[in-house]
Amino acid sequence: MIDPKEIETYQKLQTPFYRYDLRLLKATIDELIAQSKPFGYHVHYAVKANADSRVLEMISKAGLGADCVSGQEVQAALDHGFTSENIAFAGVGKSDWEIELGLNNDIFTFNVESQEEIKVIQEIAHNMGKTAGIALRINPDVKANTHKYITTGLEENKFGINMWELPDVVELLKNSPNLNLKGLHLHIGSQITDMDPFKNMCLRINEMQNWFIDQQIRFDHINVGGGLGIDYGNPTENAVPDFKKYFGIFNEFLELRPGQQLHFELGRAVVANMGDLITRVLYVKHGLKKKFAIVDAGMTELIRPALYQAVHKIENLTSSSDESFKYDVVGPICESSDCFGKEMTLPETNRGDLMAVKSAGAYGEVMASNYNLRPKAPVIYVD
Ligand SMILES: *Cc1c(COP(=O)(O)O)cnc(C)c1O
Repeated sequence: MIDPKEIETYQKLQTPFYRYDLRLLKATIDELIAQSKPFGYHVHYAVKANADSRVLEMISKAGLGADCVSGQEVQAALDHGFTSENIAFAGVGKSDWEIELGLNNDIFTFNVESQEEIKVIQEIAHNMGKTAGIALRINPDVKANTHKYITTGLEENKFGINMWELPDVVELLKNSPNLNLKGLHLHIGSQITDMDPFKNMCLRINEMQNWFIDQQIRFDHINVGGGLGIDYGNPTENAVPDFKKYFGIFNEFLELRPGQQLHFELGRAVVANMGDLITRVLYVKHGLKKKFAIVDAGMTELIRPALYQAVHKIENLTSSSDESFKYDVVGPICESSDCFGKEMTLPETNRGDLMAVKSAGAYGEVMASNYNLRPKAPVIYVD
């Protein structure tokens, strides 16, 4: 809930802006640590979910590692206090300069996604006189039961090394003296709320480990990626995700070998709910059958509804009406997909009302664009 005093001050501010509740972020990190520590699990934060400076600082101070998917993210992680031995670098398309940056900083691992990439990292590391720590990102062909654009662990997806390639990969690694194989990496998708896909991934890893042990390959760590979803429908009631249940699945089903560490890469679950996108109603337009609330934020500030058909909860912060109506809440951008929600039940809404689009802390600001030449929306912190 946003404090009425706070809303009063927001009425004087220019909209749209992101509101980051650092108190909720802290509470979420604390719970994450409380539930993962007893098992000795290592959690990396997926920087791509939200790379805001204060957010990164708070997360690095709490002792989490960083999971990066670009050279810029690796640099941002280093700049905000993550230590290089706590940085993993994934992504299907790493440029040479990004590989060099990682090697220069001796990052923990490159999570490699193809045979070609293995050859390129070997060559660059050789030329630099370095050894690259790597983890093999395997595509486990496990269904994630999430939107098809955020499924990553199916054979049809571009991510990871397919299991049938593994014998070739093992041969390749034998001839790659500048690579140090440290781990096995998987990431099956995002916004996963059903625990079965995670369980299936654990069972798949158990089989894979048997196969690798037969090849005399032993991993220091297994990295199971991220993907834990949040409750977009009830962001206030379920502000902090059920980390206990999530880590419990891995504890129950994943067979770690002696001395082996388990790593996670959570993004959304850490930051989604601490963020709101605050926007002002510009006009209420009455169509033949429906009303449109036209707001001043759009897909340029939060593209998830347009990109993944995501539904975010929307609250009218200033209406005092007892009557409610159904509104299509739409932005000002010249695209029909620039719509935050259809037929949303809201109290009677008028020009000038402030609205909060909830759970905008993950994949919001980081995906912002300047389309229609719009400037980047600022961030207001609550702490
Ligand atoms: C995006 C991504 C994550 C984080 O996903 P969330 O759903 O935000 O937890 C973790 N690992 C990799 C490799 C990713 O690409």
